[in-house]
Formats: sequence, structure tokens, C-alpha cells
Amino acid sequence: LVVVDHVEKYYGDFHALKDINLTVNKGEVVVVIGPSGSGKSTLCRTINRLEVINGGEIRIDGKKLPEEGKSLAALRADVGMVFQSFNLFAHKTILENVTLGPTRVRGQKRAEAEKAAKVLLERVGVAVQAEKMPAQLSGGQQQRVAIARALAMKPKVMLFDEPTSALDPEMITEVLDVMVQLASEGMTMVVVTHEMGFARKAADRVVFMADGEIVEEAEPEEFFTNPKTDRAKDFLSKLL
Ligand code: ATP
Ligand code: MG
Repeated sequence: LVVVDHVEKYYGDFHALKDINLTVNKGEVVVVIGPSGSGKSTLCRTINRLEVINGGEIRIDGKKLPEEGKSLAALRADVGMVFQSFNLFAHKTILENVTLGPTRVRGQKRAEAEKAAKVLLERVGVAVQAEKMPAQLSGGQQQRVAIARALAMKPKVMLFDEPTSALDPEMITEVLDVMVQLASEGMTMVVVTHEMGFARKAADRVVFMADGEIVEEAEPEEFFTNPKTDRAKDFLSKLL
């Protein structure tokens, strides 16, 4: 579903992604881990076209990015993204946050979008907060709204860039639970996270990045119990 094919990314002279090759099949959950600065966020951002690439190509569902004749907004709508900081629209209610994309980008009728939004808010456990403003919610609640907002666009794939790293410990689980649920429902997901419990529970594959390269790729059990490279061993030893 997502094919990252020999992708190169430079920030000026800095080579941030080096010949990245990654295929994510439909329904697959890929967890990306690696040290700070290894290019994990950059990879996510290239997949939803927040960053242009300098070589190679990215295909979503067989179509090359950027897709001809499609607005960037519509293209991004196929690729849902949840960031570390929740990025909700501060001056809109929770319900409006979730309906804005579907009405503006997908051209849904307001009533229809609201109905769908309420179902999604229910699913992530924040339905009672629908009329509140983002600042009135806890971090964990806001992040679950961010997930609902991304899902409202009916994306083909969901990208998560350290979605729990800005949260207090007690809120991490409630967000991870929603993600585990989503994974079990068959959503295709790319998840940058240091939550190894999530990786073990939900990932089909772990991708380990270092210095802009994919250094290792394996099933979670295999990766955690028997990492092949010194860089992965070193990284894992520091996590414990
Ligand atoms: P972290 O775990 O800290 O989030 P990361 O693996 O997500 O790290 P990236 O944010 O992808 O790493 O950054 C990869 C490298 O690219 C870093 O060295 C960073 O300094 C550099 N970089 C990222 N964004 C830019 C930018 N807009 N301009 C210049 N350099 C950048
Ligand atoms: Mg990052």
C-alpha cells in the first residue's frame, strides 16, 4: 500500500534520508524506532508530503506522490498523521476539529460529517467532550481527538510520529489502547514510537533507523531478542 522506493532527502547539505526502501502492506503495522536525529520524523513527513524528496519515489496505493490532478490536501487526506504535539485547532470545538477536514476537503455534508465524527469520538472515548474546546481536554484526550480527526478523512494509512511522547505516563496507555484497537481492526499503520510494549503487541514489523538509513528490519520478537547489528544492540541496551 505504501512503497518508499530509493528515497533520498537532503536538508541543504545534510543527507537526512539515505536510499530508504520500505514497503508497508495493507493492514500491516510497522513500528519505526531509532536514535534521535536518525530520520524517523523526516520519513513520516515525506510519506505524507510535508517534505519533498530529492530522489526516488513514494507510491501510495500504486499512485506516485504527488498524484496528478489531486490537490495536496486531498492527497494528504489519504495519509492520516498524528504528531507528538496534538495540533488541534485551538479555536474550534472538538466536534468541529473532526468535521472540518471531511466537509472542506472531502466535500461531505455537515450533518453527515457530524454523525460520523460522533461515532469516531465515541470510539476513542471522548464523545462527551464533543462541544468543548481543545484546551479543556487532557493531553491524552486531545491526542485521541487527533486520532479521530485523522480517521474522519478515511485515510488509507495512518502515520503516528511519537504520539505518546508528550504525554504524562497515565495518559500514554489510553492513547496506545486506541492505537492497538485500530491495528486490530486492520488499519495500515506506520508508527514512530519508543513504546516497546506497543511494538511487541501490535507491530508486524520493526524498522530500525540510524543516521538516515534503515539499518535493520525484522519481526518484533526477532528484533528485540536477537538484533543483528551493533547499532541496534547498542540502541536497545540504552532503552532498558
Ligand atoms: P527524534 O527522535 O529526535 O524525533 P528523528 O529520528 O525524528 O529524531 P528527524 O527529525 O527526522 O529525526 O531529523 C533527522 C535529521 O535531520 C536531524 O539531524 C535533524 O537535525 C535534521 N533535520 C530535520 N528537519 C530539518 C529541517 N527542517 N532542516 C534542517 N535539518 C533538519
Ligand atoms: Mg522525530
